[in-house]
Amino acid sequence: MSADVIDGKAYATDLKADVAKQVTILKEKYNLVPGLAVVLVGDDPASQIYVRNKNKSTHKAGMNSYEYRMDSDVTEAELLTVVKKLNLDPAVHGILVQLPLPKHINEAAIIDAIAPEKDVDGFHVINSGLLATGGRGMVPCTPLGCIMMLKDRLGSLSGLDAVVVGRSNIVGKPMAQLLLNESCTVTIAHSRTRNLAEVVKRSDIVVAAVGVPELVKGDWIKDGATVIDVGINRIEMADGKTRLVGDVEYAAAAKHAAAITPVPGGVGPMTIAVLLKNTITAACRIAGVDEPKI
Ligand code: NDP
Repeated sequence: MSADVIDGKAYATDLKADVAKQVTILKEKYNLVPGLAVVLVGDDPASQIYVRNKNKSTHKAGMNSYEYRMDSDVTEAELLTVVKKLNLDPAVHGILVQLPLPKHINEAAIIDAIAPEKDVDGFHVINSGLLATGGRGMVPCTPLGCIMMLKDRLGSLSGLDAVVVGRSNIVGKPMAQLLLNESCTVTIAHSRTRNLAEVVKRSDIVVAAVGVPELVKGDWIKDGATVIDVGINRIEMADGKTRLVGDVEYAAAAKHAAAITPVPGGVGPMTIAVLLKNTITAACRIAGVDEPKI
């Protein structure tokens, strides 16, 4: 068996095109231009690339993009002042504080200072609570992108056995919650899980969000399973060059899976597209208008 490749780039291109159409409708119908503010602290090279890409994609979709760059020695109080200002700014519908933040800043305090309705990353405790209780909150972008691709691929997920490897607040836990909301039977695995191979072997859906290159072995994958690889790991090759690999042993897993996301080109591109989608959702809710149907 050779798995179908789940083309995250193609999904992201379609979603971004839909978002751009929604922006046009919102402008014409309500004179509403969704705005996304991104706050970047320090000069972490990976974060700078993410922020630049987010900025470009936001503009391309016809939305307003606001960028706030702060030095790595900014105080927590100064950062809180910026967040509070953005909370009150009517042109800003989505606020994203790029993580990780410098060690001297309490990340949870910053995230929880963001107005929940503008929390397009979906990390605020109110939004995680709403996700857990089936309410209407903002859903974290990476897991939401994964569930969109899974539903498009499989239709109903009801009754399927799913494993999420990784239990972080930003990927693993919300991913598990979304799968549970789709009536999957969900196992959450982590660094203390015994017999990870056995857990993966019985799963129809495998989502790996660990950050360990090729931790999930190809021969653990059940025949016909769907594999979503969230991991992004940069590894050095024998020739000194680096390349990106996921948390799943891709080539070996593709021999068993029915479908699998590649790294790069799988989950990554969808994350930014869903961020734009979440900004539309936030703008419509704040303005009290229906989200345009495309
Ligand atoms: P975290 O480091 O916050 O969490 C990693 C999780 O993996 C933890 O729950 C940890 O368990 C678990 N883990 C670590 N080692 C093992 C092991 N040997 N066996 C089983 N579980 C293990 O990572 P994130 O959730 O933030 O990110 C995970 C990966 O996804 C990273 O590669 C990251 O770069 C990528 N990522 C990709 C995104 C995208 O857009 N494509 C977006 C966000 C993240 P424990 O809790 O017990 O320590």
